[in-house]
Amino acid sequence: MAFVITDACINEKAADCVDVCPVDCIAEGEDQYFINADVCIDCGGCEAACPVGAIYYEEDLPEDLRIYMEKALQFYSNH
Ligand code: SF4
Ligand code: SF4
Repeated sequence: MAFVITDACINEKAADCVDVCPVDCIAEGEDQYFINADVCIDCGGCEAACPVGAIYYEEDLPEDLRIYMEKALQFYSNH
């Protein structure tokens, strides 16, 4: 399990989440930020810090946003 960044993040580049992540597992992609699920320790800090509510715990991810989990996996498999 890990936290997932979704569509509300797209084109929002303030990156408050990056500043609070204790394990530095959030990276900038082309149009949004992504969390590395292999490194995330589920602290929830980023979820609390995101001003637009883009971050969900994987288990709480609404069905229509599950694609963002795939997007993150793809991002980290290419980097
Ligand atoms: S704080 Fe939220 S909106 Fe800002 S970069 Fe992180 S996930 Fe995206
Ligand atoms: S839950 Fe914690 S460890 Fe995981 S990405 Fe967010 S701030 Fe980083």
